[in-house]
Amino acid sequence: MNPARRRAIFRRLAEANPNPTTELEFSTPFELLVAVMLSAHTTDKSVNAATRKLFPVANTPEAILALGVDGVRPYLKSVGLYNAKSKNLIEMCRILIERHGGQVPADRGSLEALPGVGRKTANVILNMVHGESTIAVDTHIFRVANRTGLAPGKTPRAVEEQLLATTPPEYRRNAHHWLLLHGRYVCTARTPACPRCIIRDLCEYPHKTPPQRLEKSDAPVARRGTGGVRTRTGTRSKRAVPTE
Ligand code: SF4
Repeated sequence: MNPARRRAIFRRLAEANPNPTTELEFSTPFELLVAVMLSAHTTDKSVNAATRKLFPVANTPEAILALGVDGVRPYLKSVGLYNAKSKNLIEMCRILIERHGGQVPADRGSLEALPGVGRKTANVILNMVHGESTIAVDTHIFRVANRTGLAPGKTPRAVEEQLLATTPPEYRRNAHHWLLLHGRYVCTARTPACPRCIIRDLCEYPHKTPPQRLEKSDAPVARRGTGGVRTRTGTRSKRAVPTE
């Protein structure tokens, strides 16, 4: 894809949603770290259901560590893989206290050394907490980058590197939010909503969904400007964050 087209895609996504953010609910960097860590292989909705109960009771490494694995597990039952995540969460809190003074580390190495924290979670934290222009590639971003031609790659890491190398600097900080939201609510896995897509004339995907086919599908209807979505059965809230 040529640079002018790439820039035009990001310009359009930015105009439609100038301040993209995450669907995960949090009020401190530590809460965000916990929420992103819990979101691996599960939905943001189920994570929010868990943290809405957990955080009022314990929202610091010290308080969660004091709960212990058995104490934290009941709060995480709405979350996939909650047994393993309960153990990781307690161990993560222990390490944060012992090595980082209870703070969320600002370097990739320390983040990725935490139990349950991989490259994608580290990228989200570095971006949202520490202001770095990292791009966390999840399944949605991987799909959108490949379909559109923005950053074709066989692995998430390859796509991440391509996006970092080619995304215009002024769009790099928010790129992962825009692409994730676009993938979750418009360029969906089964039937991308091409007829309603705001970048369809710029997208290089050769198999775009024709209008007749979209009408018959259950694809979500994107709400331009919010990143939110209207489904045929109801309304979901707007924001999203990558899962590990
Ligand atoms: S035109 Fe279709 S394939 Fe291309 S980005 Fe939009 S929804 Fe995805």
